[in-house]
Amino acid sequence: LDVKRINDTIAAISTAVALGQGSIAIVRVSGPSAERIGRQVFSIPGTQRWESHRIIYGHVIDPTSRERIDEALLLIMKAPRSFTGEDVIEFHCHGGLICVQRVLELVLSQGARRALPGEFSQRAVLNGRIDLTRAEAISTLIGARSRRVTQLAMVSLTGAVYKEITRIKERLLEQLAELEAHLDFEEDLLPLDERIVKNNLESIYQDLIQLVMDSNRSAILYRGLEVALIGRPNVGKSSLLNLFSRREKAIVTDLPGTTRDLLESEIIVQGVPITLVDTAGIQFTGDIVEKLGIQRSRQVMMSADAIILVFDLTEGWTSAEEDLIREIPEGTILLIAGNKSDKCPLRHNTPVSKIFNQSWIFPVSARTGEGEDSILSELLNRCGANENQDIRLSLNSRQRDLAKEAATFLNHTLITIERNLPIDFWTIDLRQAIAILTELTGENISEVTLDRIFSRFCIGK
Ligand code: GDP
Ligand code: ZN
Repeated sequence: LDVKRINDTIAAISTAVALGQGSIAIVRVSGPSAERIGRQVFSIPGTQRWESHRIIYGHVIDPTSRERIDEALLLIMKAPRSFTGEDVIEFHCHGGLICVQRVLELVLSQGARRALPGEFSQRAVLNGRIDLTRAEAISTLIGARSRRVTQLAMVSLTGAVYKEITRIKERLLEQLAELEAHLDFEEDLLPLDERIVKNNLESIYQDLIQLVMDSNRSAILYRGLEVALIGRPNVGKSSLLNLFSRREKAIVTDLPGTTRDLLESEIIVQGVPITLVDTAGIQFTGDIVEKLGIQRSRQVMMSADAIILVFDLTEGWTSAEEDLIREIPEGTILLIAGNKSDKCPLRHNTPVSKIFNQSWIFPVSARTGEGEDSILSELLNRCGANENQDIRLSLNSRQRDLAKEAATFLNHTLITIERNLPIDFWTIDLRQAIAILTELTGENISEVTLDRIFSRFCIGK
Protein backbone atom coordinates (compact mmCIF):
# COMPACT_ATOMS: atom_id res chain seq x y z
CA LEU A 1 0.00 0.00 0.00
CA ASP A 2 1.12 3.49 -0.80
CA VAL A 3 0.82 4.99 2.67
CA LYS A 4 1.38 8.54 1.54
CA ARG A 5 -1.51 8.42 -0.84
CA ILE A 6 -4.03 7.02 1.55
CA ASN A 7 -3.11 9.60 4.18
CA ASP A 8 -4.24 12.65 2.30
CA THR A 9 -7.72 14.03 1.87
CA ILE A 10 -9.46 13.96 -1.49
CA ALA A 11 -12.42 15.91 -2.83
CA ALA A 12 -14.60 15.88 -5.94
CA ILE A 13 -18.00 16.79 -7.27
CA SER A 14 -19.92 13.52 -7.07
CA THR A 15 -23.00 14.46 -9.05
CA ALA A 16 -23.34 15.08 -12.78
CA VAL A 17 -22.62 18.72 -13.50
CA ALA A 18 -24.29 20.62 -16.31
CA LEU A 19 -25.17 24.23 -16.80
CA GLY A 20 -28.59 24.99 -15.35
CA GLN A 21 -29.42 21.33 -14.75
CA GLY A 22 -30.05 19.61 -11.42
CA SER A 23 -31.07 21.62 -8.41
CA ILE A 24 -28.64 19.91 -6.03
CA ALA A 25 -24.99 18.98 -6.45
CA ILE A 26 -22.75 17.11 -4.01
CA VAL A 27 -19.13 17.79 -3.15
CA ARG A 28 -17.65 14.79 -1.40
CA VAL A 29 -14.56 15.00 0.81
CA SER A 30 -12.79 11.94 2.24
CA GLY A 31 -9.72 11.56 4.41
CA PRO A 32 -8.22 12.54 7.76
CA SER A 33 -8.68 16.29 7.19
CA ALA A 34 -12.28 16.07 6.02
CA GLU A 35 -13.77 17.11 9.35
CA ARG A 36 -11.28 19.95 9.88
CA ILE A 37 -11.99 21.32 6.39
CA GLY A 38 -15.72 21.05 7.00
CA ARG A 39 -15.50 23.00 10.24
CA GLN A 40 -13.34 25.64 8.56
CA VAL A 41 -15.67 26.43 5.67
CA PHE A 42 -19.12 25.68 7.08
CA SER A 43 -20.95 27.99 9.42
CA ILE A 44 -23.82 26.55 11.40
CA PRO A 45 -26.61 28.68 12.84
CA GLY A 46 -28.39 27.81 16.09
CA THR A 47 -27.73 24.83 18.29
CA GLN A 48 -27.09 22.10 15.71
CA ARG A 49 -24.43 19.68 16.79
CA TRP A 50 -21.48 18.43 14.76
CA GLU A 51 -22.26 14.71 14.95
CA SER A 52 -21.64 11.70 12.74
CA HIS A 53 -24.45 10.52 10.47
CA ARG A 54 -26.35 13.77 10.86
CA ILE A 55 -27.32 16.45 8.42
CA ILE A 56 -26.51 20.02 9.34
CA TYR A 57 -27.95 23.12 7.72
CA GLY A 58 -25.73 26.14 7.16
CA HIS A 59 -23.59 28.23 4.83
CA VAL A 60 -20.38 27.56 2.98
CA ILE A 61 -18.18 30.53 3.80
CA ASP A 62 -14.72 31.47 2.55
CA PRO A 63 -12.77 31.77 5.83
CA THR A 64 -10.44 34.40 4.36
CA SER A 65 -12.89 36.82 2.73
CA ARG A 66 -15.91 35.83 4.87
CA GLU A 67 -17.91 35.63 1.61
CA ARG A 68 -20.95 33.34 1.62
CA ILE A 69 -20.40 30.91 -1.24
CA ASP A 70 -23.60 28.88 -0.95
CA GLU A 71 -26.37 27.79 1.35
CA ALA A 72 -26.06 24.05 1.85
CA LEU A 73 -26.64 20.90 3.86
CA LEU A 74 -23.65 19.12 5.31
CA LEU A 75 -23.59 15.37 5.91
CA ILE A 76 -20.97 13.97 8.26
CA MET A 77 -19.92 10.33 8.26
CA LYS A 78 -17.08 9.52 10.62
CA ALA A 79 -14.67 6.65 10.00
CA PRO A 80 -15.12 3.76 9.68
CA ARG A 81 -18.86 4.08 9.01
CA SER A 82 -18.59 5.68 5.59
CA PHE A 83 -18.32 4.56 1.97
CA THR A 84 -14.52 4.90 1.95
CA GLY A 85 -14.03 3.84 5.56
CA GLU A 86 -12.47 7.25 6.23
CA ASP A 87 -13.96 10.45 7.64
CA VAL A 88 -16.29 11.72 4.93
CA ILE A 89 -18.24 14.93 4.62
CA GLU A 90 -20.60 15.83 1.84
CA PHE A 91 -21.74 19.31 0.92
CA HIS A 92 -25.18 19.20 -0.67
CA CYS A 93 -25.08 22.55 -2.46
CA HIS A 94 -27.04 24.20 -5.20
CA GLY A 95 -26.70 22.62 -8.63
CA GLY A 96 -25.65 24.18 -11.86
CA LEU A 97 -22.07 24.93 -12.75
CA ILE A 98 -20.78 27.76 -10.59
CA CYS A 99 -21.85 27.20 -6.97
CA VAL A 100 -20.68 23.66 -6.74
CA GLN A 101 -17.37 24.43 -8.40
CA ARG A 102 -16.70 27.31 -6.02
CA VAL A 103 -17.43 25.03 -3.05
CA LEU A 104 -15.01 22.44 -4.45
CA GLU A 105 -12.32 25.06 -5.01
CA LEU A 106 -12.73 26.32 -1.48
CA VAL A 107 -12.34 22.79 -0.11
CA LEU A 108 -9.22 22.32 -2.25
CA SER A 109 -7.78 25.59 -0.98
CA GLN A 110 -8.09 24.25 2.58
CA GLY A 111 -5.78 21.31 1.91
CA ALA A 112 -7.77 18.65 0.09
CA ARG A 113 -6.59 17.38 -3.27
CA ARG A 114 -8.68 16.70 -6.35
CA ALA A 115 -9.74 13.02 -6.39
CA LEU A 116 -8.65 10.87 -9.31
CA PRO A 117 -11.34 8.94 -11.22
CA GLY A 118 -12.69 6.14 -9.04
CA GLU A 119 -10.48 7.12 -6.10
CA PHE A 120 -13.27 7.06 -3.49
CA SER A 121 -14.14 3.51 -4.56
CA GLN A 122 -10.48 2.56 -4.58
CA ARG A 123 -10.16 3.72 -0.98
CA ALA A 124 -13.31 1.80 -0.07
CA VAL A 125 -11.61 -1.33 -1.43
CA LEU A 126 -8.22 -0.62 0.16
CA ASN A 127 -9.88 0.01 3.50
CA GLY A 128 -11.84 -3.23 3.23
CA ARG A 129 -15.28 -1.59 3.07
CA ILE A 130 -16.21 -3.38 -0.15
CA ASP A 131 -14.43 -5.94 -2.29
CA LEU A 132 -13.29 -5.18 -5.81
CA THR A 133 -16.21 -6.94 -7.53
CA ARG A 134 -18.70 -4.77 -5.63
CA ALA A 135 -16.79 -1.61 -6.54
CA GLU A 136 -16.84 -2.64 -10.17
CA ALA A 137 -20.57 -3.32 -9.91
CA ILE A 138 -21.16 0.27 -8.82
CA SER A 139 -19.30 1.54 -11.85
CA THR A 140 -21.29 -0.77 -14.11
CA LEU A 141 -24.53 0.38 -12.52
CA ILE A 142 -23.68 4.01 -13.19
CA GLY A 143 -22.66 3.37 -16.79
CA ALA A 144 -25.57 1.04 -17.62
CA ARG A 145 -27.45 1.78 -20.81
CA SER A 146 -30.24 -0.71 -20.22
CA ARG A 147 -32.46 -2.02 -17.47
CA ARG A 148 -31.09 -5.56 -17.64
CA VAL A 149 -27.53 -4.35 -17.09
CA THR A 150 -28.63 -2.49 -13.97
CA GLN A 151 -30.26 -5.72 -12.74
CA LEU A 152 -27.07 -7.74 -13.27
CA ALA A 153 -25.00 -5.00 -11.66
CA MET A 154 -27.27 -5.07 -8.60
CA VAL A 155 -26.71 -8.84 -8.30
CA SER A 156 -22.93 -8.26 -8.24
CA LEU A 157 -23.34 -5.34 -5.88
CA THR A 158 -24.99 -7.59 -3.31
CA GLY A 159 -21.82 -9.68 -3.43
CA ALA A 160 -22.98 -12.60 -5.59
CA VAL A 161 -19.85 -12.61 -7.77
CA TYR A 162 -17.60 -12.31 -4.74
CA LYS A 163 -19.38 -15.16 -2.95
CA GLU A 164 -19.43 -17.46 -5.96
CA ILE A 165 -15.74 -16.98 -6.73
CA THR A 166 -14.82 -17.32 -3.06
CA ARG A 167 -16.78 -20.59 -2.86
CA ILE A 168 -14.95 -21.97 -5.88
CA LYS A 169 -11.63 -20.82 -4.46
CA GLU A 170 -12.33 -22.49 -1.12
CA ARG A 171 -13.12 -25.80 -2.81
CA LEU A 172 -9.77 -25.54 -4.62
CA LEU A 173 -7.95 -24.69 -1.39
CA GLU A 174 -9.45 -27.76 0.22
CA GLN A 175 -8.10 -29.96 -2.58
CA LEU A 176 -4.74 -28.27 -2.39
CA ALA A 177 -4.54 -28.81 1.38
CA GLU A 178 -5.29 -32.48 0.94
CA LEU A 179 -2.63 -32.90 -1.74
CA GLU A 180 -0.07 -31.07 0.36
CA ALA A 181 -0.87 -33.21 3.37
CA HIS A 182 -0.11 -36.27 1.27
CA LEU A 183 3.16 -34.76 0.16
CA ASP A 184 4.20 -34.00 3.73
CA PHE A 185 2.94 -37.06 5.63
CA GLU A 186 2.68 -39.72 2.98
CA GLU A 187 3.43 -42.65 5.31
CA ASP A 188 0.82 -41.72 7.91
CA LEU A 189 -2.16 -41.28 5.55
CA LEU A 190 -4.26 -43.64 3.51
CA PRO A 191 -3.26 -43.71 -0.15
CA LEU A 192 -4.73 -40.83 -2.16
CA ASP A 193 -7.82 -41.69 -4.19
CA GLU A 194 -6.97 -40.04 -7.49
CA ARG A 195 -10.45 -40.50 -8.88
CA ILE A 196 -12.04 -38.46 -6.12
CA VAL A 197 -9.56 -35.60 -6.56
CA LYS A 198 -10.07 -35.67 -10.31
CA ASN A 199 -13.87 -35.68 -10.01
CA ASN A 200 -13.82 -32.80 -7.57
CA LEU A 201 -11.52 -30.71 -9.74
CA GLU A 202 -13.56 -31.54 -12.82
CA SER A 203 -16.76 -30.38 -11.18
CA ILE A 204 -15.13 -27.11 -10.09
CA TYR A 205 -13.81 -26.68 -13.63
CA GLN A 206 -17.36 -27.12 -15.01
CA ASP A 207 -18.72 -24.50 -12.59
CA LEU A 208 -16.09 -22.01 -13.73
CA ILE A 209 -16.77 -22.67 -17.40
CA GLN A 210 -20.51 -22.24 -16.81
CA LEU A 211 -19.81 -18.87 -15.21
CA VAL A 212 -17.68 -17.83 -18.18
CA MET A 213 -20.39 -18.89 -20.64
CA ASP A 214 -23.10 -17.00 -18.76
CA SER A 215 -20.84 -13.98 -18.79
CA ASN A 216 -20.23 -14.26 -22.52
CA ARG A 217 -23.96 -14.02 -23.03
CA SER A 218 -24.34 -11.07 -20.71
CA ALA A 219 -21.48 -9.28 -22.51
CA ILE A 220 -24.05 -8.70 -25.26
CA LEU A 221 -26.24 -6.85 -22.78
CA TYR A 222 -23.34 -4.59 -21.79
CA ARG A 223 -22.10 -3.62 -25.20
CA GLY A 224 -25.37 -4.06 -27.07
CA LEU A 225 -25.96 -5.62 -30.47
CA GLU A 226 -25.10 -4.18 -33.83
CA VAL A 227 -27.56 -5.19 -36.50
CA ALA A 228 -27.24 -4.32 -40.20
CA LEU A 229 -30.29 -3.85 -42.40
CA ILE A 230 -29.48 -4.77 -45.97
CA GLY A 231 -31.61 -4.90 -49.10
CA ARG A 232 -32.20 -3.36 -52.51
CA PRO A 233 -33.41 0.25 -52.76
CA ASN A 234 -37.12 0.74 -52.05
CA VAL A 235 -37.71 -2.54 -50.26
CA GLY A 236 -38.41 -0.48 -47.09
CA LYS A 237 -35.20 -0.49 -45.02
CA SER A 238 -35.58 3.15 -43.94
CA SER A 239 -39.25 2.63 -43.17
CA LEU A 240 -38.48 -0.40 -41.00
CA LEU A 241 -35.71 1.50 -39.21
CA ASN A 242 -38.23 4.22 -38.44
CA LEU A 243 -40.80 1.73 -37.24
CA PHE A 244 -38.35 -0.03 -34.90
CA SER A 245 -37.10 3.31 -33.57
CA ARG A 246 -40.52 4.19 -32.23
CA ARG A 247 -40.35 1.34 -29.73
CA GLU A 248 -40.17 1.56 -25.92
CA LYS A 249 -38.48 4.86 -25.13
CA ALA A 250 -36.20 4.52 -28.08
CA ILE A 251 -33.13 6.69 -28.20
CA VAL A 252 -33.06 7.77 -31.81
CA THR A 253 -29.85 9.11 -33.18
CA ASP A 254 -30.39 9.60 -36.88
CA LEU A 255 -27.19 10.72 -38.43
CA PRO A 256 -27.71 13.15 -41.26
CA GLY A 257 -26.56 12.09 -44.67
CA THR A 258 -27.53 11.33 -48.21
CA THR A 259 -29.26 8.13 -49.16
CA ARG A 260 -25.86 6.60 -49.71
CA ASP A 261 -24.82 7.26 -46.12
CA LEU A 262 -25.32 4.79 -43.35
CA LEU A 263 -28.14 5.64 -41.03
CA GLU A 264 -27.93 4.55 -37.46
CA SER A 265 -30.47 4.29 -34.71
CA GLU A 266 -30.20 2.86 -31.23
CA ILE A 267 -33.24 1.10 -29.86
CA ILE A 268 -33.79 -0.84 -26.64
CA VAL A 269 -35.61 -4.16 -26.98
CA GLN A 270 -36.35 -6.22 -23.85
CA GLY A 271 -33.67 -4.21 -22.09
CA VAL A 272 -31.02 -4.85 -24.73
CA PRO A 273 -29.50 -1.90 -26.62
CA ILE A 274 -29.53 -2.57 -30.36
CA THR A 275 -27.81 -0.33 -32.87
CA LEU A 276 -29.53 -0.66 -36.22
CA VAL A 277 -27.51 0.34 -39.23
CA ASP A 278 -29.23 0.93 -42.56
CA THR A 279 -26.71 0.03 -45.23
CA ALA A 280 -28.33 1.95 -48.01
CA GLY A 281 -25.26 1.71 -50.19
CA ILE A 282 -25.31 -1.84 -51.40
CA GLN A 283 -26.01 -1.75 -55.08
CA PHE A 284 -24.14 -3.36 -57.87
CA THR A 285 -23.34 -0.50 -60.20
CA GLY A 286 -20.18 0.97 -61.68
CA ASP A 287 -20.55 4.38 -60.01
CA ILE A 288 -17.45 5.29 -57.95
CA VAL A 289 -19.40 6.96 -55.15
CA GLU A 290 -21.65 3.97 -55.13
CA LYS A 291 -18.63 1.69 -54.82
CA LEU A 292 -17.40 3.59 -51.77
CA GLY A 293 -20.83 3.12 -50.26
CA ILE A 294 -20.66 -0.56 -51.00
CA GLN A 295 -17.28 -0.82 -49.32
CA ARG A 296 -18.60 0.79 -46.14
CA SER A 297 -21.65 -1.40 -46.19
CA ARG A 298 -19.42 -4.45 -46.44
CA GLN A 299 -17.49 -3.26 -43.38
CA VAL A 300 -20.72 -2.90 -41.45
CA MET A 301 -21.79 -6.38 -42.52
CA MET A 302 -18.46 -7.79 -41.37
CA SER A 303 -18.69 -6.29 -37.91
CA ALA A 304 -22.43 -6.76 -37.34
CA ASP A 305 -23.65 -9.29 -34.78
CA ALA A 306 -26.62 -10.01 -37.01
CA ILE A 307 -28.02 -9.01 -40.40
CA ILE A 308 -31.62 -8.46 -41.41
CA LEU A 309 -32.03 -8.90 -45.14
CA VAL A 310 -35.11 -7.01 -46.29
CA PHE A 311 -36.91 -7.83 -49.52
CA ASP A 312 -40.16 -6.59 -51.01
CA LEU A 313 -42.96 -9.18 -50.93
CA THR A 314 -44.79 -7.42 -53.76
CA GLU A 315 -41.80 -7.93 -56.02
CA GLY A 316 -40.79 -11.28 -54.62
CA TRP A 317 -37.39 -12.83 -54.30
CA THR A 318 -35.16 -11.76 -57.19
CA SER A 319 -31.66 -12.41 -58.41
CA ALA A 320 -30.58 -9.21 -56.61
CA GLU A 321 -31.47 -10.83 -53.28
CA GLU A 322 -29.63 -13.94 -54.40
CA ASP A 323 -26.52 -11.77 -55.01
CA LEU A 324 -26.89 -10.07 -51.61
CA ILE A 325 -27.03 -13.38 -49.75
CA ARG A 326 -23.64 -14.24 -51.19
CA GLU A 327 -22.20 -11.04 -49.71
CA ILE A 328 -23.06 -12.06 -46.16
CA PRO A 329 -19.98 -13.10 -44.19
CA GLU A 330 -19.76 -16.72 -43.07
CA GLY A 331 -21.23 -17.43 -39.65
CA THR A 332 -23.28 -14.24 -39.37
CA ILE A 333 -26.71 -14.52 -37.80
CA LEU A 334 -29.16 -13.83 -40.63
CA LEU A 335 -32.86 -12.98 -40.54
CA ILE A 336 -34.95 -12.46 -43.65
CA ALA A 337 -37.74 -9.91 -43.59
CA GLY A 338 -40.39 -9.96 -46.34
CA ASN A 339 -41.64 -6.38 -46.13
CA LYS A 340 -44.92 -4.78 -47.30
CA SER A 341 -46.99 -7.72 -46.08
CA ASP A 342 -49.94 -5.30 -45.90
CA LYS A 343 -50.02 -5.24 -49.70
CA CYS A 344 -48.97 -8.79 -50.38
CA PRO A 345 -49.10 -11.47 -47.71
CA LEU A 346 -46.44 -14.16 -47.56
CA ARG A 347 -47.91 -17.23 -49.19
CA HIS A 348 -46.67 -20.77 -49.13
CA ASN A 349 -45.79 -20.44 -52.80
CA THR A 350 -43.88 -17.16 -52.45
CA PRO A 351 -40.68 -17.94 -54.31
CA VAL A 352 -37.54 -17.71 -52.18
CA SER A 353 -33.93 -18.75 -52.36
CA LYS A 354 -33.10 -22.41 -52.55
CA ILE A 355 -30.49 -21.90 -49.79
CA PHE A 356 -33.03 -21.59 -47.03
CA ASN A 357 -36.43 -22.73 -45.98
CA GLN A 358 -39.48 -20.52 -46.45
CA SER A 359 -40.23 -20.70 -42.74
CA TRP A 360 -37.15 -18.55 -42.22
CA ILE A 361 -38.92 -15.55 -43.65
CA PHE A 362 -40.59 -13.05 -41.36
CA PRO A 363 -43.48 -11.26 -43.03
CA VAL A 364 -43.42 -7.65 -41.81
CA SER A 365 -45.03 -4.38 -42.68
CA ALA A 366 -43.31 -1.11 -41.97
CA ARG A 367 -46.67 0.52 -42.68
CA THR A 368 -48.90 -1.41 -40.24
CA GLY A 369 -46.25 -2.74 -37.81
CA GLU A 370 -47.25 -6.33 -38.50
CA GLY A 371 -44.56 -8.88 -37.62
CA GLU A 372 -42.41 -6.34 -35.80
CA ASP A 373 -42.49 -8.11 -32.42
CA SER A 374 -41.79 -11.54 -33.85
CA ILE A 375 -38.76 -10.49 -35.85
CA LEU A 376 -37.20 -8.51 -32.99
CA SER A 377 -37.85 -11.35 -30.52
CA GLU A 378 -36.28 -13.84 -32.87
CA LEU A 379 -33.32 -11.50 -33.32
CA LEU A 380 -32.68 -11.55 -29.55
CA ASN A 381 -33.23 -15.31 -29.43
CA ARG A 382 -30.69 -15.97 -32.11
CA CYS A 383 -28.17 -13.67 -30.42
CA GLY A 384 -28.73 -15.35 -27.03
CA ALA A 385 -30.07 -12.18 -25.45
CA ASN A 386 -33.71 -13.11 -24.96
CA GLU A 387 -35.34 -11.88 -21.77
CA ASN A 388 -36.30 -15.44 -20.82
CA GLN A 389 -32.75 -16.68 -21.18
CA ASP A 390 -32.04 -15.97 -17.58
CA ILE A 391 -28.54 -15.00 -16.53
CA ARG A 392 -27.97 -15.76 -12.87
CA LEU A 393 -24.85 -13.72 -12.45
CA SER A 394 -22.35 -12.23 -14.77
CA LEU A 395 -18.69 -11.36 -14.67
CA ASN A 396 -17.38 -8.23 -16.36
CA SER A 397 -14.69 -8.62 -19.01
CA ARG A 398 -11.80 -8.36 -16.54
CA GLN A 399 -13.32 -10.94 -14.23
CA ARG A 400 -14.27 -13.20 -17.13
CA ASP A 401 -10.73 -13.21 -18.54
CA LEU A 402 -9.37 -14.22 -15.14
CA ALA A 403 -12.01 -16.92 -14.68
CA LYS A 404 -11.04 -18.31 -18.08
CA GLU A 405 -7.39 -18.25 -17.09
CA ALA A 406 -8.11 -20.06 -13.82
CA ALA A 407 -10.13 -22.67 -15.72
CA THR A 408 -7.18 -23.19 -18.08
CA PHE A 409 -4.85 -23.89 -15.14
CA LEU A 410 -7.40 -26.31 -13.68
CA ASN A 411 -7.51 -28.07 -17.00
CA HIS A 412 -3.72 -28.38 -16.89
CA THR A 413 -4.02 -29.93 -13.45
CA LEU A 414 -6.48 -32.48 -14.78
CA ILE A 415 -4.12 -33.35 -17.62
CA THR A 416 -1.24 -33.72 -15.15
CA ILE A 417 -3.29 -36.15 -13.08
CA GLU A 418 -4.26 -38.12 -16.17
CA ARG A 419 -0.63 -38.47 -17.15
CA ASN A 420 0.19 -39.94 -13.72
CA LEU A 421 2.78 -37.28 -12.94
CA PRO A 422 3.86 -36.96 -9.28
CA ILE A 423 1.54 -35.10 -6.89
CA ASP A 424 3.80 -32.06 -6.48
CA PHE A 425 3.23 -31.37 -10.18
CA TRP A 426 -0.54 -31.31 -9.63
CA THR A 427 -0.23 -28.61 -7.03
CA ILE A 428 1.69 -26.18 -9.28
CA ASP A 429 -1.21 -25.37 -11.61
CA LEU A 430 -3.72 -25.66 -8.81
CA ARG A 431 -1.91 -22.90 -6.89
CA GLN A 432 -1.90 -20.73 -10.02
CA ALA A 433 -5.66 -21.16 -10.43
CA ILE A 434 -6.21 -20.13 -6.82
CA ALA A 435 -3.95 -17.08 -7.15
CA ILE A 436 -5.87 -15.93 -10.22
CA LEU A 437 -9.23 -16.21 -8.47
CA THR A 438 -7.79 -14.20 -5.60
CA GLU A 439 -6.86 -11.49 -8.09
CA LEU A 440 -10.42 -11.59 -9.45
CA THR A 441 -11.93 -10.67 -6.11
CA GLY A 442 -9.18 -8.12 -5.56
CA GLU A 443 -7.66 -9.69 -2.44
CA ASN A 444 -4.31 -10.28 -4.04
CA ILE A 445 -3.82 -7.70 -6.72
CA SER A 446 -0.96 -5.41 -7.65
CA GLU A 447 -1.33 -1.70 -7.04
CA VAL A 448 -0.69 -1.00 -10.72
CA THR A 449 -3.58 -3.25 -11.74
CA LEU A 450 -5.83 -1.67 -9.17
CA ASP A 451 -4.93 1.82 -10.40
CA ARG A 452 -5.71 0.76 -13.95
CA ILE A 453 -9.12 -0.62 -13.00
CA PHE A 454 -10.18 2.47 -11.07
CA SER A 455 -8.88 4.92 -13.66
CA ARG A 456 -11.81 3.86 -15.85
CA PHE A 457 -14.32 4.91 -13.19
CA CYS A 458 -15.82 8.35 -13.26
CA ILE A 459 -14.58 11.22 -11.12
CA GLY A 460 -16.35 11.58 -7.80
CA LYS A 461 -17.10 7.86 -7.53
P1 GDP B 1 -35.43 1.76 -48.70
O1 GDP B 1 -34.90 2.34 -49.95
O2 GDP B 1 -35.18 0.29 -48.62
O3 GDP B 1 -34.95 2.46 -47.49
O4 GDP B 1 -37.04 1.89 -48.76
P2 GDP B 1 -37.94 3.02 -48.08
O5 GDP B 1 -38.09 2.78 -46.64
O6 GDP B 1 -37.47 4.34 -48.49
O7 GDP B 1 -39.36 2.67 -48.74
C1 GDP B 1 -39.54 2.69 -50.13
C2 GDP B 1 -41.02 2.84 -50.43
O8 GDP B 1 -41.77 1.73 -49.98
C3 GDP B 1 -41.62 4.07 -49.77
O9 GDP B 1 -42.52 4.68 -50.69
C4 GDP B 1 -42.39 3.50 -48.58
O10 GDP B 1 -43.52 4.26 -48.24
C5 GDP B 1 -42.83 2.15 -49.12
N1 GDP B 1 -42.96 1.17 -48.03
C6 GDP B 1 -42.03 0.86 -47.12
N2 GDP B 1 -42.48 -0.09 -46.28
C7 GDP B 1 -43.75 -0.38 -46.66
C8 GDP B 1 -44.76 -1.29 -46.19
O11 GDP B 1 -44.59 -2.05 -45.22
N3 GDP B 1 -45.95 -1.33 -46.85
C9 GDP B 1 -46.18 -0.52 -47.93
N4 GDP B 1 -47.36 -0.64 -48.50
N5 GDP B 1 -45.26 0.34 -48.39
C10 GDP B 1 -44.05 0.42 -47.79
ZN1 ZN C 1 -33.58 4.04 -47.37
